[in-house]
Formats: sequence, structure tokens, C-alpha cells
Amino acid sequence: MDSWKKNVRRAIPYVPGEQPNLPDMIKLNTNENPYPPSPKVGEALHALRNRDLRLYPDPTAGELVEAIADYYGLKKEQVFVGVGSDDVLAMAFLTFFNGDKPVLFPDITYSFYDVWAGLFRIPYRQIPLTEDFVIRPEDYRIENSGIVFPNPNAPTGQELPQEAVEEIVAANSGSVVIVDEAYVDFGARSALSLTEKYDHLLVVQTMSKSRSLAGMRIGYAMGNPELIRRLNDVKYSFNSYTMDQTALAAGKAAMEDREYFEETRKNVMETREWTKRELSELGFTFGDSMGNFIFAAHKSCPGRELFNALREKRIFVRYFDKPRISNYLRITVGTPEEMKALVDFLKNYLRQE
Ligand code: PMP
Repeated sequence: MDSWKKNVRRAIPYVPGEQPNLPDMIKLNTNENPYPPSPKVGEALHALRNRDLRLYPDPTAGELVEAIADYYGLKKEQVFVGVGSDDVLAMAFLTFFNGDKPVLFPDITYSFYDVWAGLFRIPYRQIPLTEDFVIRPEDYRIENSGIVFPNPNAPTGQELPQEAVEEIVAANSGSVVIVDEAYVDFGARSALSLTEKYDHLLVVQTMSKSRSLAGMRIGYAMGNPELIRRLNDVKYSFNSYTMDQTALAAGKAAMEDREYFEETRKNVMETREWTKRELSELGFTFGDSMGNFIFAAHKSCPGRELFNALREKRIFVRYFDKPRISNYLRITVGTPEEMKALVDFLKNYLRQE
């Protein structure tokens, strides 16, 4: 009885942030962009014709790949696209992390990495960040079959300077090093230029955050053509049509609207800096986040308590009940009005403490 169960792949899944849909909520829990996508995206979607949906999408995602390559001054052969950077990263784990040595990533980082490693049975080792939540390049000089880290790191928001990124890449020419730049457009420096020098460096980005397209699921990887070819070989061994017609059209339009991108990311950065100042005054401490979120702990009020109090007011932030970070809240940068409402609530709440 039940003997099929022994053949089941046991997976411990990633738990995404909740997606409540309440009319008066302030949603600051999944690092979405508070601004809508470029109006050009809406136009591109309207131009799609119902009858065309009977056709499969372009399996090479040619026009989208070209728009991304144009934006970054790359050749098409240097760009791979997927269903959000989650899909791109999963494909990259499957493609590049096949050795017997552990794959390395920080202990406090994007919590999908250990999930993929578990799913694909990749041995891994989590390298502790320093007390101040900083990645130390010298810790990545141990035997490994691959390295992955976000820059800026998540959920801390802290940026690793380019020299330190290069130090890790240069010391690990025997492995593919993946820099997950989901949040890079909010003020950090991209490692993209290093891909010219290092064949084993893959830079992964997304349209979910800085291009306001979390709902469309578009991510991409950039690197030397051989890395991209290997990724495509795995993709075509899995699902040829990962990108649907709507995503192809929306992604292309978003990538081409540089002006809107510049304007909205500037707004988010300004609001982030305003929020940092306000939170400091309220007694919060945090690293210098370069993402569209702030990872903050209060000097006296526990993180869990604040999380629950905010939630009751329908202000949703993210709380991770994990070692080292259980006193922190990860607060996505919303509109100026949303952040003011957050700060006003906290002012009141902390006064009553
Ligand atoms: N990397 C990091 C560090 C993230 O925080 C996220 C967002 N959850 C992703 C990748 C995946 O984002 P997406 O699949 O929406 O591109």
C-alpha cells in the first residue's frame, strides 16, 4: 500500500510573500514597484491580436532578447530570457551546478537558493555574512562547484562593491559565478562589464522590480555566448516555450522605454532615502540598502510584534522567522504617500510602547 510514495521527489518548497488583495491595504511585502509599468507596455498588450494566440510564441524570444541586448550593448548571443529571474536562476542551477563540491552562497540571502539546491540535489554550503551582514570575498576561496549571491544582497539590501565582486569571480575560474542583480537598478553597480573579462560570470536581472513587471514574469541572464548556449540547451530540454506572447510584447516595450524607467527608479530611490531618514529618527537601525526595500530592526520593539501590529492596520511588510534576522522587517519602498502612512503609524505605535 502506498508504495508509490517511495518514488516521490521530496521537495521543501520556497514560501513566497503573501499576495493579499484588500482594497485599502498598503502592500510593502514582496518588493514590487509601486508605480505601474510603462504606458508603452499597455499599448503593446492592446496591440496583441486574439487570433494570434493560437500560434506558439517565438521559442527564441527573439525580439525581447534583442531589446535587452540593445539596452545593454550586448549581442543577442549573450542574453537568455526566462519566466522571471526565478526561472532563469533555476535553469542556471540545473545547467552549471553539477559538480560534487558544494555550491556556495551566503547564510542570509535569497531563500530560494537552498530550495533549488535541494530540488536538484546539489550539495551546498552557506557562508556566514559578517556581524554587519556583509559578504567577505576571502570566505569564497574554498573548494566549490559554483557560487551564487545577490548584489545588492536580499533581504539585507547591502551592496558588495565591484572590487569585492571581482575578487570572488577572479578567485573562482573553475566554477560558474552567478551574480543575482534583481535589485541592481536602484543605485548599485552592475557586474555586467566584468562578463567581458570573465567567461565564467553570469549576471541575472529581472523586470519584476525596476520595470514594474512582477505580474508578467520576465527575467534574463547575461554572459558569454557559451554560458548562454548551455542555458538554452537545458531550457529546450525542458520547455521550448517558456515566454508567452504577452510577456514577449510587454518585456520588449518596457525595455525600450528608457525615460520612464529612469523616472520611476529615481522616484523609488528618493522615497527610500526619505524613509531611511524617518526610520532612523524612530529608532530603527539598518544597513545602507541599495534595493527597493529597507531591512530594519527597532532598538526596543521586537520585529515580530511590529510585523503583527502593521498587519492589523493592513500594512503588509515581510518578516523572516530565521536565525540572526528574526528581529528585522523587510519593508518595500512604496509611493511617498504609502511610506508616510507607514511612518505615521510607526510613530504612533512606538509612542504608546
Ligand atoms: N532574486 C532575488 C534576490 C529576489 O529577491 C527575487 C524576488 N523574489 C528574485 C530573484 C526573483 O524575482 P523574479 O522571479 O520576479 O524575477
